[in-house]
Amino acid sequence: MSGELPRVGVGVDVHPVEAGRPCWLAGLEWPGVDGCAGHSDGDVVAHALTDAVLSAAGLGDIGGLLGTDDPRWAGARGAAVLAHAREVLETAGWRIGNAAVQLVGNTPKVGARRGEAERVLGEALGAPVSVTATTTDGLGLTGRGEGRAAVATALVVRTASVDAPPS
Ligand code: MG
Repeated sequence: MSGELPRVGVGVDVHPVEAGRPCWLAGLEWPGVDGCAGHSDGDVVAHALTDAVLSAAGLGDIGGLLGTDDPRWAGARGAAVLAHAREVLETAGWRIGNAAVQLVGNTPKVGARRGEAERVLGEALGAPVSVTATTTDGLGLTGRGEGRAAVATALVVRTASVDAPPS
């Protein structure tokens, strides 16, 4: 091993649920489920993952990546945001090793489509992604169904192209 260790990062996102809005979560559309409000598509799972990979590489956060109200990202799909973050990391000399994300919320029930979500998110990041979910037993904004949250972590390694020159 050449000395530099992999780096981890963390990301969290929370959005309010908005009645009647299409639900995009974990890179998938969930018919019959109320979606989340937001400047983009409100995909808290994808946004937490985006923050985790940026954090791991020391490249700031999603607000800096997209701008908070940049019209180019209005309604943007979570998978597109993730793919953009991956490009930024790769340009900066980082490769994503893997990432994991947990949804905190009552809906949707992700278990039935876990494999599908992991494939879509993994293709966007070019790395394995684990997707899990939990509820808060009726407590707090997620328990009352007012919003959804997600927490994510990611591991990144430097690519050979930017290794320090031999001394
Ligand atoms: Mg967000």
